[in-house]
Amino acid sequence: MRRAVWMIAIILASVSTGVGLSWRMPELDLAARDWLLRTRGKIEPPAEVVVVAIDEASIARLGRFPWPRALMARGLERLSAARAKVIALDILYSEPSTEADDQALAAAIARAGNVVVASQLMKTTGDKGESRVVWLSPLPEIQSAAAGVGHVNVVPGHDGIVRALLLRQADDDGEALWAMAAETIRIAEREKSDALRELPGAVQIGVHRVPIDGHGDEIILGAQNDAAHFERLRPARLQLDYVGPGGAFAGQTYSFCDLLEGKIEEDKLRGKYVLIGATAAALGDRLATPFAYDENDPDLRSNELTPGVEILANSLHTILRGRFYQELPDWLVIALTALAALGVYLSSALLQGRREGIKQVAVMTGPALIMWPIAYFAFTQWLIILPIASIITTCVTAALLLLLQRSLMVGAGLDARISELAVLDGPLGRSSEALSFGAISSPVPNDPTPVIARLSGAHAVAVIVCDRNGVRHPAACHGVAFRAESLKRRMLDQEAAHSVSQALSQDQPASDYFEFNQVDHPANHRALTLWLSGRRGNDEGPAGELIIAYDAAARPTNETLMLCREIAASYLATDANAAPRDAGRSVWRRARRLSWWPRGAAWKAQILAWLQQRMIMRSLFVERALRSIEDGLLIATAEGCITFANPRAAAILGISERGLIGSDLFGRLSESEQSHRGADPAPTPHEILFRLLVERSPVEREITIHHGRPRRYVLRMSAVGQDLHGIEAQGAALGIVVSFSDVTRQYELQRAKNDVMALVSHELRTPLTAIQGISEVLTKYEVEPQRRYEMHLAINDESKRLARMIDEYLDLTRLETGARPLRPEPLRIVQLLERTLLLLEPVAAQREIRIARRFAPNLPALMADPDLIARAVTNLLANAIKFSAPQHDVIVEAAAENDFLRIEIKDQGCGIPPEAIPFIFEKFYRVPRLEDADTPGTGMGLAFVRDIAQLHGGRITVESEVGVGSVFTLRLPFVQEQSENQDVETTCLNR
Ligand code: ADP
Repeated sequence: MRRAVWMIAIILASVSTGVGLSWRMPELDLAARDWLLRTRGKIEPPAEVVVVAIDEASIARLGRFPWPRALMARGLERLSAARAKVIALDILYSEPSTEADDQALAAAIARAGNVVVASQLMKTTGDKGESRVVWLSPLPEIQSAAAGVGHVNVVPGHDGIVRALLLRQADDDGEALWAMAAETIRIAEREKSDALRELPGAVQIGVHRVPIDGHGDEIILGAQNDAAHFERLRPARLQLDYVGPGGAFAGQTYSFCDLLEGKIEEDKLRGKYVLIGATAAALGDRLATPFAYDENDPDLRSNELTPGVEILANSLHTILRGRFYQELPDWLVIALTALAALGVYLSSALLQGRREGIKQVAVMTGPALIMWPIAYFAFTQWLIILPIASIITTCVTAALLLLLQRSLMVGAGLDARISELAVLDGPLGRSSEALSFGAISSPVPNDPTPVIARLSGAHAVAVIVCDRNGVRHPAACHGVAFRAESLKRRMLDQEAAHSVSQALSQDQPASDYFEFNQVDHPANHRALTLWLSGRRGNDEGPAGELIIAYDAAARPTNETLMLCREIAASYLATDANAAPRDAGRSVWRRARRLSWWPRGAAWKAQILAWLQQRMIMRSLFVERALRSIEDGLLIATAEGCITFANPRAAAILGISERGLIGSDLFGRLSESEQSHRGADPAPTPHEILFRLLVERSPVEREITIHHGRPRRYVLRMSAVGQDLHGIEAQGAALGIVVSFSDVTRQYELQRAKNDVMALVSHELRTPLTAIQGISEVLTKYEVEPQRRYEMHLAINDESKRLARMIDEYLDLTRLETGARPLRPEPLRIVQLLERTLLLLEPVAAQREIRIARRFAPNLPALMADPDLIARAVTNLLANAIKFSAPQHDVIVEAAAENDFLRIEIKDQGCGIPPEAIPFIFEKFYRVPRLEDADTPGTGMGLAFVRDIAQLHGGRITVESEVGVGSVFTLRLPFVQEQSENQDVETTCLNR
């Protein structure tokens, strides 16, 4: 709607400018028409028109003009002898000469019978001294002898160029005469005088109907003494079509002297329109035509004007050939210009985008360039004169107005952007809710000097900023006024200290820097200067100095000074980031003070750039803050495509940030997550999305992620709501935020508690109950000696089992809590295995079990804790012996596998049912088997092995088949990764 109004307004304004201008300044259209005529150039003159010229040759032969009129009489006789169709005598014979000559001419004219003589309007002074215009008519005898009298007046424009003639003119006495061209045609066509008639919009000349341009005032004609008889004389202007510049008729122009001497062949004159007139330059009678002003043609200067007789010839050419110019009616002109303006409007809308400048110029010049050939074609083909000037003016006006409109729209757009950004920007926006966002990273950070003063107990603090040129100026000051002049002196003096101890050693009297009042502050105040840079070792960051004035008796500690330095450096970094500092701030300050002042596009662009810079800084700050969070953080779209991942999330999931971005959130979670015993099954993505997006409730659960050691995390997911009317949950969900909080420590503490409970309530209780029962029997009843001995043996066995269980549990707990740290050292595995076998082989031999060794030769040493590895191998080997039937083999294998050492213990024992396999590494778990009832065990051996493997960065796996046997494989890295070690140590320390 607004666009349509703009379009109509622009078209109306440009059309009225274009059309109005050409009405007010018709010269523009005339100039365009002259150009068309000149471009068209010369055309073939009509063959039936012949000019008999009183030219230089005739004057040379016959003497100075005017000649005796008898000469003209002879000339006329020759012409009528040659049977010219009509003779137009473009010479004024209004003054009498000799009687005989005048008679001779009148007689010749009368004899010829087809001679038209000339009359001309002339300004005279009347009887009462008033200026009058009257006909300068031929002598009465000549006039009465002539077949017709025609006027030879033309209508020169303001510029003196003759473009038209009035077909009928009247003098101040109201006597009207037809133009000589009209009379000549009438006589040639042997018509009576009433054959010349005025019609509405045209003039009838014999058979020719001549359209005329009737603009101008009418003249009332009437006989002075006859009030009843009057006639209206409308201006009947005939636009002349010139065949070419002066001399265009040269091919059919003959010298008058040749005529007299009979040198012109009669058939060249027979049946022709013969026009007699002066062409000699000396005789004057020359007029300017549109052709005369071709400035580029140097030859034109000599004969740049056209003789009057040729203008007469051109008039005849216009009428006889019907070459009448057609101008468009006003409504059509308006319609055409409106169309052109519409074209400019539409094309400029299409031509936006890249290289707009060139396109704009094209829009402005394009219609003009298209206009010219069309106008030329219309003129040469149909003599239609298109309103070139109006159209071009309209197009240019439309293009300029469009530019104006666009600049207004751009200005309005900038205003809108500025106010949008200003709402988000605290100090700019006046709304209170905007301030909460603005507080995240204010472009003018809070002054840190009071805090530094409080922390360090200093009496005065100043932060100095160094600009790019190394010039220092104070940025913030607290306590006592800072002496700015001290900076200049210090610059030459010494450099600021980089380290705290250096600063303390270089301290100076505080009054060097601060204007201390001697009464309040005794002279033992010292001041130290610390060098600040954005980051240590990074010269690119903003630089500055921190100056602290303190009481020599209460010197701040090194730690305090280091802390103060960091606070000041952070202030400096934030402040420098809030650039463009000076330019932006001063513009803004000025703008706030002068809010009524009109603001140009340049100002708006500048303030917009400043606001944008702040927004960028702010979003960078928020992003950095999110990246620095200790919890893992993922942001995903509503359908689950990850768009942001902080480094912690990448570390937790074991995938780089880049790898995470763009991938599927639920896919990544299910890849990393580990199911474990007793846990609820993970909800499906569908369920999670339903809760997040439809119910708008957060999803929270604990998950285990296994990279090296398994770790526990609380996974929280919630929807990012659109803030509608201050209620966040109302709008559409914009995405999903996922956070991972590491709760491994809490989880393990809880598990340890549970383990103790399990140990005490189940594992310790069984042997205790047995001991208690037997001892009760022993105390209450008389038991035979053999039985008593067995019972004592049982008590001993059970209490040993109890002690072993407690020992094993404590060992395991020490290992898990880090109380027993890893003590890695270079270790030859074959030696360790041999030692273990030495201890266990007697046990195996008792059960007739053979142990086979398959050790790869030249195994490299590995970094590991020998005690723990020996314990792990012993546990595995003891199990293999324990769970094998007698007379079977146990194979111990050791080999290198990539970066790992593989120790494999293979037995041909009872095997483990598949449903038990996931649990055998958990504490206290024993496969429920009848045949194992007598097999001693605590269910902690494999848990121990698993913990040892994980502490070394390795792992333990099992393959087993009931009745066939089991293979336990322990993989240990030859070289332990530093990070893994560190991780282990920090985990241990944390506990
Ligand atoms: P225990 O002290 O009972 O041996 P472990 O943690 O070492 O405790 O083993 C847990 C359970 O795993 C055992 O009770 C046993 O049922 C099963 N198991 C361990 N090793 C083997 C093996 N080599 N063959 C069959 N079952 C085994």
